[in-house]
Amino acid sequence: MSQPSGNPGVTVPAAGGTPAPGDETTPDATQTAENTCPECGGSGTVQGKPCPGCEGTGTVTVTVGDA
Ligand SMILES: [Zn+2]
Repeated sequence: MSQPSGNPGVTVPAAGGTPAPGDETTPDATQTAENTCPECGGSGTVQGKPCPGCEGTGTVTVTVGDA
């Protein structure tokens, strides 16, 4: 006779079973790239005002999906 394979018991996580809120990590799967802001052309300003498109940084971060 042989014992049934597998353990019928429920596996209880040792510690930290409940994920803590705010555990936000940078997903490597999502790739982002910085492009020159098309609104201000990379200057960061439009007509003397901070560019609303890039918040004055001159670059915009775009998500690269499937290249
Ligand atoms: Zn801009």
